[in-house]
Amino acid sequence: MKQDIESLRQPLPSLTGGVGGGSFPILSRQIYGKPLVYLDNGATTQKPQCVIDAITDEYLNVNANVHRGVHYLSQEATRLYEEARETVRAFINARSTTEIIFTRGTTESINLVAATFGQACMQAGDEVIVTEMEHHSNIVPWQLLQLRKDIKIRVCPITDDGRLDLDVLPTLFSPNTKLLACTHVSNVLGTVNPVKDIIAMAHAHGVPVLIDAAQSVPHMAVDVQALDCDFLAFSGHKVYGPTGIGVLYGKEQWLEKLPPYMGGGEMIGKVSFERTTFNVLPYKFEAGTPDYVAARGLAVALDFVSGIGMGKIAEYEHELGTYAYEQLMQIEGMHIYGPAPSPVISFNLAAEGGAAFIHHLDLGTLLDRLGIAVRTGHHCAEPLMHRLGIEGTVRASFALYNTKEDVDALVAGIDRVRKMF
Ligand code: PLP
Repeated sequence: MKQDIESLRQPLPSLTGGVGGGSFPILSRQIYGKPLVYLDNGATTQKPQCVIDAITDEYLNVNANVHRGVHYLSQEATRLYEEARETVRAFINARSTTEIIFTRGTTESINLVAATFGQACMQAGDEVIVTEMEHHSNIVPWQLLQLRKDIKIRVCPITDDGRLDLDVLPTLFSPNTKLLACTHVSNVLGTVNPVKDIIAMAHAHGVPVLIDAAQSVPHMAVDVQALDCDFLAFSGHKVYGPTGIGVLYGKEQWLEKLPPYMGGGEMIGKVSFERTTFNVLPYKFEAGTPDYVAARGLAVALDFVSGIGMGKIAEYEHELGTYAYEQLMQIEGMHIYGPAPSPVISFNLAAEGGAAFIHHLDLGTLLDRLGIAVRTGHHCAEPLMHRLGIEGTVRASFALYNTKEDVDALVAGIDRVRKMF
C-alpha cells in the first residue's frame, strides 16, 4: 500500500507529452501572461492536432453533402461519414451501425429518446426513474414529456457520501415504470455509478435503461453489449472531438419501435401529401444534412484515444485524480464533494480563519487570473446542489494531457487566493 502511495508521488508525465505537449496546440497558449492550465475538461476537452487536421482536410479536399450525390465528392464524403459511424460502433462495441445515430450531442440524444419513447411507449401515469445526480439534460427532457403526457418522474436519492442510494432504488420500480435514465459518471461528484448492476435490476423489472455516458466515454472503456443498456448517449466534444456531434446508441429492437424524432430530408422512404414512409435505421433519426465534418473529426478523436488505450487513460487519470485529491485535501478549509478519487473534483473553500466558503465564482475568477481554467457554478445540476445544500462549487476536471504540474499549479493558486481572503 505504502509502495502504491509512493509511486503516486512520482512525477506523472501526461499521456500526450506534458503541458503544451505537441498533440494539443491550444495548451501552448498563455493566459494573462501565464501558461494555460486547463482543468475544465468536464465541460469540453481540447482538440488534438489530428482532429483539427481531419476537419481542415474535409473542408479543403472533400466537402460535399452526404447520401445525396452521384458525384465523386459526395460519394467520398458519404464513405467517410459511414466509416465514422463504424468507428463509433466499434468504440462502444455496438452490434451494428444501424444502432448508431449521429446527433448534436448528449442533450439531443436524450431529448430524442424522451420525445420518441414518450410518444410510443408512455401514457399518462407512467413513470420514469432518474437520479438526484443527473445533469439537467437528463431531467428537463422528462419534465417536457411530463407536460405533454402527464407522466411521473421518480428520483433515486444519493447518500451523504455522494453515491446513489441503492437501498432506495429497488423501491422506486412500480408496474407503471417504463424507463430508467441514469448517468454513468456524475459531472459534479465524479461518482461512477454501478450501471451494469442497475441495468440488470431494471431489466429484472422489465424496464429498459438509458445511460448518460457524457462523462464516462472520455475516461473509460464503455461496452454497450457488456452493459446491456438499451440506450446510451455521449458527446463528441467531451472526448477530444469537435462540437456539434454526439451519439445515441439504441438497441435495434427499440429503435425500430420508436417513431422519427424530426422530419425532413434523408429520414424518409417515399413522400407524398397522402402518405410518407420513413427510411431504415439509422437514417430514420437523422433528418436533414448531418454534421458529417464533425462526424469525421469524432472518428479521428476516437481513433486517437483508442490508440493510447482506454484502459491506460483510465489508469493514468485515476492516478492523477488521486494525486489531486491528496494535494487538495492538504489545503486548510478545503471541502471536496463526492467519493474520491476521480478525474472530476468539485470543492468549496473556506476563507482563512472563517467558516464561510469563499464564493465559488470569486475563487474561479481569481484562479483564471493565474491562467488556471476551472468551472464554477451549479454545473447544470441544480437539484444536486439543493441536495448538497450549496449554490455551487469549483470543479477541476482532468484529461489525459493534464499532469501533476497542473495539479501543483492549482493547489498553489488556491493557496494564493485563500491568503487574499
Ligand atoms: N450529461 C452530463 C453528465 C454532462 O456532464 C453533460 C455536459 O456537461 C451533458 C449531459 C450534456 O452534454 P452536451 O451539452 O454536450 O449535450
